[in-house]
Amino acid sequence: MQWEQLTSTDLGRAARETGVCILAAGVLERHSEHLTLGTDYLNAHAIACLAAEREPAVVFPPFYFGQIYEARCFPGAVTLRPQLLLELFLGVFDEIARNGFHKIVLYNGHGGNNHLFPFLAQCTLWEEKPYALYLPAWGSSPERAARRQAILETEHHGHACECETSMTMANYPELVHMDRVPDEPALPLERARDLRGAFAGIRWYSDYPEHYAGDARAATREKGLALRDIAVEELAEAIAAIKADAVVPTLNREFFARERAQRRSGNGA
Ligand SMILES: [Zn+2]
Repeated sequence: MQWEQLTSTDLGRAARETGVCILAAGVLERHSEHLTLGTDYLNAHAIACLAAEREPAVVFPPFYFGQIYEARCFPGAVTLRPQLLLELFLGVFDEIARNGFHKIVLYNGHGGNNHLFPFLAQCTLWEEKPYALYLPAWGSSPERAARRQAILETEHHGHACECETSMTMANYPELVHMDRVPDEPALPLERARDLRGAFAGIRWYSDYPEHYAGDARAATREKGLALRDIAVEELAEAIAAIKADAVVPTLNREFFARERAQRRSGNGA
């Protein structure tokens, strides 16, 4: 079920019946020459909608704000200042919960959000919230990783690559420009190799200055459909586990009861 396609009454019912809302988040950023700016959020939303058909949940409308400062040197990137981005996510979570969803699944369609989303999860311990936030993992089982590997022909992946281009061909074939795929694959330039693994914000750019990582020449729609099946199956399974989960809400309550007690004793009460 898609939030924006439900009536107000139907959304209220869906919140009561499923309790779970999926926020599939991507960004607007360059994807080499052959994929479009919205690739991440379009694919993540498509996968979330298919998974929510298998394991009923409500999917929040397409969401294209996230951490993508590393694409600010290219046309079409849309970024928000850090404080606003944080406020935006936390405000949207509050609104989802105010509408009756006590479990929020933050489904990540963009690698750059890996720096932000775990922090958002930790933010749920700053103050007690009426929701639990879950970040499902991609490629969580070795069996699925092996199935994915068996579909792919190229070794190096990351951005606008064989996987992402194939996946986009499955979801939005009209948005893929195979005639514009670069002639050469994009391997990491490793310009920061002397840092011995130390992280810096410019690191991804240091490897991939053209926002292309991998080799899209091997992409096909058939591979994309097979990859999508695995992703949908994985997310549907995660939604079912999250629905059944009582541990996180229980521990959140326990944690905040102790936190309140600690505050009271700290105040001398
Ligand atoms: Zn992407």
